[in-house]
Amino acid sequence: MGVGRVRPVVQGLAPYRPGKGAKQAEAEHGISDAIKLASNENPYAPPPSVLSAIRDAAAGVNRYSDHGASELRGKLSRWLGVGQDSVAVGCGSSGLLQQLCVAYVEPGDEVVSPWLSFEAYPLFVALMDGNFVKVPLTSSHRIDLDAVAAAVGPKTKLVMLATPNNPTGCALSTDDLASFMAKVSEDVLVVVDEAYREFSDPALGDPVGDLVGRFPNVVVTRTFSKAYGLAGLRSGYAIADPAIIEQLDKVLLAFSVNSLAQAGAIAALDALDEIQQLIDSLLAERARVVEALRNAGVALPDPQGNFVWIPIGDAADDVALALEQRGVVVRPFSGDGIRVTISTPAENDRFLATYAEVTA
Ligand SMILES: *Cc1c(COP(=O)(O)O)cnc(C)c1O
Repeated sequence: MGVGRVRPVVQGLAPYRPGKGAKQAEAEHGISDAIKLASNENPYAPPPSVLSAIRDAAAGVNRYSDHGASELRGKLSRWLGVGQDSVAVGCGSSGLLQQLCVAYVEPGDEVVSPWLSFEAYPLFVALMDGNFVKVPLTSSHRIDLDAVAAAVGPKTKLVMLATPNNPTGCALSTDDLASFMAKVSEDVLVVVDEAYREFSDPALGDPVGDLVGRFPNVVVTRTFSKAYGLAGLRSGYAIADPAIIEQLDKVLLAFSVNSLAQAGAIAALDALDEIQQLIDSLLAERARVVEALRNAGVALPDPQGNFVWIPIGDAADDVALALEQRGVVVRPFSGDGIRVTISTPAENDRFLATYAEVTA
């Protein structure tokens, strides 16, 4: 017994384990020049106009931010072609995912998700004393929507679908999602987590245009963290029926979308062409990395995010450690594989050479 009476669920949680930083790996292994390919960050700083908007906003940090993020909401709603009451802004999209759990999950309720998937989901569900129901991926690392639909029961409140999925990188089409929606009762919310949308094949469809509006129980979440290079500022958004947005807004921690995050996101929406160039260069690098790995005999699924998934099973921890000792920090998933973020050409070359070395 420690001080106070912590909730058993919190007592039992392991501390949150973010992707290991380069500095930490350097200290642990007594090396220098480590690179971090472990958190699916954008290796490129945002365009100068975005940085300058953030700097300008810094002068006003003595004031609280606009809690409702009204300017950003307005801009998002015009850009996406949905009503302003269909958009929520949160402290990163993970903030919005937690708000969904806070607003909808009672103790004992179920949240169904394919697994492997985003490691924050089970944490948010556990904090509500809910039950996280894991539905295995197919043998080709894809989400098995039939099995997910079959796992939805009377206690299910939410279904979490990351597309592209983290860590496996496979994506769902809106046709597949629409067939899935037809099998799920309207009193179950289906969360389509598109943190990596900007890196995926546009031919898969747009869940906002294709699903929200048609299905009142769909919630699409997106973020400025990955493609827009604003991970350190924390802003994300959700698009859904106004009745859902209203509940999400009630449980947003006051002012948690800080003023720099709002300014950066607004400026990013004015710099889409420049940001697209950075995305395009990452997509070209992704193709190059995949080809090099496949030429070396590595089997991996087609990636739709800014990372590759190497399903090496039981070798995951050993390979990740060997890479890390040589200064290349990737994200291991014990017993399943490693996830490697696509970065600059030089960092990708370093990963490829080091991976060849440790697996030789
Ligand atoms: C990175 C990530 C997020 C959220 O990132 P934020 O920085 O909180 O916006 C959400 N979902 C998935 C699947 C992710 O990988």
